[in-house]
Amino acid sequence: MEKYDIAIIGGGLLGTSISYWISNLYDAKVAVIEKESDVGMHTSSRNTGVVHSPFYLNPNKKGKLARAAFLSHEMWETFAKKKGLPWNMVGTMEIALDEAQHKILEKYMDWGPRNGMSEKNMELLNSSDVAQREPNIRCHSAIHCKTDAVVDYGEFTRKLKEESQRNGTKFLFNRQLESVENLDDATILAFQNKEKISSKIVINCAGGYSLDVAKKFGLANDYSSLHFRGEYWIANAEYTNLVKTNVYSVPKYPDFPFLDPHWIIRSDGKSEVGPNAVPVPSPETYSGYVGDIETFISKLTEIVTGSTRKLLLNADFMNLVAKEWLSSLSKTVMIERIQEFMPKVKPEFFSERGTAGIRTPIITPEGNFLPDVLELVGPNSYHILNYNSPGATGAPAYSAFVVRSMQEKGLLQYKTQKTDSIWDFETII
Ligand SMILES: Cc1cc2nc3c(=O)[nH]c(=O)nc-3n(C[C@H](O)[C@H](O)[C@H](O)COP(=O)(O)OP(=O)(O)OC[C@H]3O[C@@H](n4cnc5c(N)ncnc54)[C@H](O)[C@@H]3O)c2cc1C
Repeated sequence: MEKYDIAIIGGGLLGTSISYWISNLYDAKVAVIEKESDVGMHTSSRNTGVVHSPFYLNPNKKGKLARAAFLSHEMWETFAKKKGLPWNMVGTMEIALDEAQHKILEKYMDWGPRNGMSEKNMELLNSSDVAQREPNIRCHSAIHCKTDAVVDYGEFTRKLKEESQRNGTKFLFNRQLESVENLDDATILAFQNKEKISSKIVINCAGGYSLDVAKKFGLANDYSSLHFRGEYWIANAEYTNLVKTNVYSVPKYPDFPFLDPHWIIRSDGKSEVGPNAVPVPSPETYSGYVGDIETFISKLTEIVTGSTRKLLLNADFMNLVAKEWLSSLSKTVMIERIQEFMPKVKPEFFSERGTAGIRTPIITPEGNFLPDVLELVGPNSYHILNYNSPGATGAPAYSAFVVRSMQEKGLLQYKTQKTDSIWDFETII
């Protein structure tokens, strides 16, 4: 049985970034365990592709994600330029449709600088300022954030894997973690292909499955999760330039993971609308609504027996679920939501679906959506749950915080080394 110092479950952007830092800083034997044949095959390649500036994140509720997003912006820019990857600073118009939503924009003007942003990168505009810059947007007012960029996070993950491999990390593909056995000084990890490895420390970065993995370690037993598929439609080539920036609207229910679909510019220059948030039974149900029957029944059972059942009594939540279902079944319903701020848009402007991705928010034992990342520590393990949007933006800085937190807890007792790095660890910390 192969022995490792550190095994990271999950080769998404988070697991790959953590492997990069640890292999850069320590002379340790590091493995990334990934059930697919390459890194970044799930959420890290199936997202909106925006490098978000954290003006819209409440620093009191989403402080970790906001701080990480702020610090990572420059890190990703450096990385993209070094690797010759697309980095297109298209900016975002965050729009308000009425006075009540405008009040939220005023709050954002305060949150941005509190999350580290420079005031000069955020401009509050009235409707005629917006119309002058983007004649196809109709709104009451907007924040123009100049620094939002669009990238290909799947490509970022693959390039970062190469850097981590150069530092000595082993990527063990086609290994799906099935069970764990905790020994005093190590954990035995058993995979679906019957292979086993042992590792002194395990880091759980399994994305939509991270709660299931934590439960294998006897943690987070009172938490549950829901899965929401975000779907997109690609604008036909002749409508790509209808608006030249991303357009987001102020979410009506910020405590729920439902945002109205946006107009987004992709790093390849195409434009799309989306995502909605349709409930599905697993983190990988990319089409259909039920998935395989075993998964469907197990999710239903979890919902009626776990903390999620409290949410079913919330009328706002149930109304929103119904609205999102409709927008999945009917393109017209999805486009009607965009017409609220881009009246010229019509369903026939969109002929092809984009790549759907799935969010997995964690539900607390009290039946609420957890707003920020949840870190849990076991005897020889560290678990990251609820690593949702803007997690792709924040990955390089957030993963450095994880390493620092593990150092402080005495979980990284290996010989340090100084290898050339794209980013400087101490500066980020
Ligand atoms: C629709 C949508 C839009 C988004 N838009 C943005 C955006 O514009 N900007 C932004 O910053 N963020 C965005 N996000 C969020 C961002 O994509 C995620 O926060 C980020 O990709 C999470 O990375 P991860 O590594 O945690 O998860 P993942 O990329 O899902 O990686 C987890 C990995 O673990 C592996 N795994 C799971 N279980 C096991 C097991 N048992 N054994 C072995 N391997 C396993 C999986 O195969 C997977 O590769 C969006 C998310 C969604 C869903």
